[in-house]
Amino acid sequence: MFQKILIANRGEIALRVLRAAKELGIQTVAVHSTADADAMHVRLADESVCIGPPPSRDSYLNIHQIVAACEITGADAVHPGYGFLSENAKFADILAAHNITFIGPSGDHIRIMGDKIEAKRTAKRLGIPVVPGSEGAVSDEKEAKRVAAEIGYPVIIKASAGGGGRGMKVALTEADLEMALATARSEAGAAFGDDAVYIEKYLQKPRHIEVQIFGDGAGKGVHLGERDCSLQRRHQKVWEEANSPALNSEERSRIGDICANAVANLGYSGAGTIEFLYENGEFYFIEMNTRLQVEHTITEAITGIDLVHEQIRVASGGGLSVTQNDIRFHGHAIECRINAEDPRTFVPSPGTITHFHTPGGLGIRVDSGVYSGYRIPPYYDSLIGKLIVHGRNRVECMMRLRRALDEFVVDGIKTTLPLFRELVGNPDIANGDYDIHWLEKHLAKGE
Ligand code: ADP
Repeated sequence: MFQKILIANRGEIALRVLRAAKELGIQTVAVHSTADADAMHVRLADESVCIGPPPSRDSYLNIHQIVAACEITGADAVHPGYGFLSENAKFADILAAHNITFIGPSGDHIRIMGDKIEAKRTAKRLGIPVVPGSEGAVSDEKEAKRVAAEIGYPVIIKASAGGGGRGMKVALTEADLEMALATARSEAGAAFGDDAVYIEKYLQKPRHIEVQIFGDGAGKGVHLGERDCSLQRRHQKVWEEANSPALNSEERSRIGDICANAVANLGYSGAGTIEFLYENGEFYFIEMNTRLQVEHTITEAITGIDLVHEQIRVASGGGLSVTQNDIRFHGHAIECRINAEDPRTFVPSPGTITHFHTPGGLGIRVDSGVYSGYRIPPYYDSLIGKLIVHGRNRVECMMRLRRALDEFVVDGIKTTLPLFRELVGNPDIANGDYDIHWLEKHLAKGE
């Protein structure tokens, strides 16, 4: 087992990892920018190292500083959290070269999944259902037209190097294709320095359903069920549920088994999420995230398994603590992402939290790095906390969520709490009847 883990992140996820390490009796090192000297993860860690000025590229993305912090403190492993360096293959390789364990998959697996064309090709080879589309990158308009005619309009052009929803363009008919292709290509070139694009069938009313997987790196894989993250705004997840209100248990085990077998065959190590669009009973692979996700907490709620413990065990060579047969799903869980944002315009609202009071009681978990008197720095993402509610079934979960939202107090800044209070009372949400466009349509109507 590791002696000392350095947590290369900030905010609620740094605290989340710190808690798991402490439970396992492992020493912790926090790293922080000068803007985060007062952060909770810094206060609670056994040691802390300042790694640079506020901008992420000079601190949380600064590989040299983080490796130096490992060497100064003698950390033998690094947990990257999510975001920042968590899907940076070069970082994983550099740590390996320094004999420091990266708590995550190999650099090679990160690289494959970071390239969308390569990821899709690999998924297909492993028996995962993918969206119909071009075999690889499309070279010119003629080829694009041929592929689009074959799969049928509407189609979506996507950047191979894409991420964060950038470099994607929809063409409803052949007349739109030329423009969509050119725009997607130039956006991709500007954003990622790589203008390779590919074509897929555009699904019109899908849900976003993702499967949590774990590999032991030695040919074993398990799945921990799915999460439904269809409630999104600008491709950012807002509200997540486990299990999905749209799946039955037969569909759950079918897609779960496909994913578990795929990661076993890949020899994948650690936690990962295979993301799908789901429409008319069919799953279509869109990407695989090779890290812990923000919404891993709802999977923990329904399985009772601590995913960060599991990541640390696997990375230290201890293997998985569970087999597929040990994994059972209990009840229903919902996560609301509490952002420091205006609840209607989503404009960030940094500032000082004058009063912070979290709900409690059975089935309630709040993961947050903030406290009364905390000043939110303007440099990073606006997530200030996650409310995770568990109930024996979805109805009980929603009742409890409504009550918990009433108790939650965050004064001094704007937050997305009012949006959740509205959603929890909406009949479509109560019925689980929504797709990936529902939230944006609902917000547009309310304006
Ligand atoms: P990124 O990595 O940039 O987030 P994804 O491939 O994960 O890109 O896609 C982001 C979002 O774009 C999806 O959640 C979905 O809303 C939309 N999308 C992607 N591919 C399709 C498709 N084939 N049909 C419909 N919507 C799509």
